[in-house]
Amino acid sequence: MRLFAPSLAFVDLETTGMSAGEDRITEIGVVRVDAAADGTAPQVTEWSTLVDPGVPIPPAIVALTGIDNAMVAGAPPFSALVRDIAALLDGAVFVAHNARFDYGFLKHAFARAGHPFTTRALCTVRLSRRLFPDARGHGLDALIARHALPAGDRHRALGDARAIWSFMQVLYRDLPGDAIEAAVKRVLRIPSLPPQLPPDALDALPESPGVYLFYGDNPLPLYIGKSINLRDRVAAHFSGDWRSETDARLSQEIRRIEFEETAGELGALLREATLVKARMPAHNRALRRKAEAGVLTLTTEGTPAYVPAMAIEPAGLAGAFGPFGSRAAVRETLRALAAEHRLCWRRLGLERRPGGPCFQRQLRRCAGACVGAEDPALHDARLATALAPLAIPAWPCAGLALVREAAVFSERTDVHVMRDWCWLGTARDEGALAELIEAPPRPQFDIDVTRLLLKRYAAGRLVLQPVPALSLDVR
Ligand SMILES: [Zn+2]
Repeated sequence: MRLFAPSLAFVDLETTGMSAGEDRITEIGVVRVDAAADGTAPQVTEWSTLVDPGVPIPPAIVALTGIDNAMVAGAPPFSALVRDIAALLDGAVFVAHNARFDYGFLKHAFARAGHPFTTRALCTVRLSRRLFPDARGHGLDALIARHALPAGDRHRALGDARAIWSFMQVLYRDLPGDAIEAAVKRVLRIPSLPPQLPPDALDALPESPGVYLFYGDNPLPLYIGKSINLRDRVAAHFSGDWRSETDARLSQEIRRIEFEETAGELGALLREATLVKARMPAHNRALRRKAEAGVLTLTTEGTPAYVPAMAIEPAGLAGAFGPFGSRAAVRETLRALAAEHRLCWRRLGLERRPGGPCFQRQLRRCAGACVGAEDPALHDARLATALAPLAIPAWPCAGLALVREAAVFSERTDVHVMRDWCWLGTARDEGALAELIEAPPRPQFDIDVTRLLLKRYAAGRLVLQPVPALSLDVR
């Protein structure tokens, strides 16, 4: 049997829950398969161990796996297993059913033990879906039933790892090797890197948040992008699956890749914005797009007015509506509100033609502010109510606030200084932070930053640490 890679590690974990960041591993099972040099049967190594999670196992999980607190009491903690597991997985393609889960847990466990861990993970759920698109269900139970796999200890780590190894063997028994290999490539999204890049260009990229810069022959970058997973994002540019016109052109022109890591998503967004502004890459349209953005305000007469990005005073953002990507987006929103609330197109500024009933009134879709059938004050009050859900909330701090972003897989922490839903700067140490706070630059509106902050704020996921106003030093 000739497998698609010289070494495969079929891995299954049992855990205390579903969250790779918060829950812990209770059991690890690995079936490692190494191809024999002479093409005979591969060498199969099985390994499994219980792991002391250091936290109690919830009863629902005990019921599912049969692994209880007494069983893991004397087991080694993950930190004592790091070397063995790393050796066992070394050089092998990591194969798991719902690989994101197992890989995520292992990656977090390795990180907590101070050990980096990166591998190429093949998900057998996705592989099954690709090879058998019409089959019903791709869960492990469904695969065991459909392919008559020997079912051992379900929901125990080694039992499940053996089941996915059996699944792979059935695939090689029933399907041509090239079909399996092609499907594996698609699932792993092995990108076809442009030939002028070194073949290991992707391996140098971390799977962490940051910005990346594509260069051609010229000292100015072709393109600047951001991601919470640099390697995945850069690979996606070249994976061919959904290749855009820009990606096609980048593939031709790219000669090298640079990157900068950030602690988190916010830091990547802010760094991208700064770099794009400073370097103006040929293939980024972000700047023009940002200039078109704006917010909507109500004039003292109660009618809506568009304020473009460059005219926005951050202190005045609270109470405005939006932000919107463009004037056209505002008009679209106003039209939708008009239709829903029988508002007047003329009064909303959607219709310039003066006098007589507005277009919507002619279709009986306007309550009649344009022809005196509705008191304009009442119309404007209804407009204000209709817009209320789009209102930008008051900045919840008296002045500056800090947003701390700690990296998941490293010690890095970025401290972003914010005010009025705008970004003032980012510091990575106390000295730089003190400087920023003492002499903060003027906040400048950037739609992407404001949007992300508002989105997190609305979801209760924005932790703002107020900076007390500095008292003047009067020694
Ligand atoms: Zn009207």
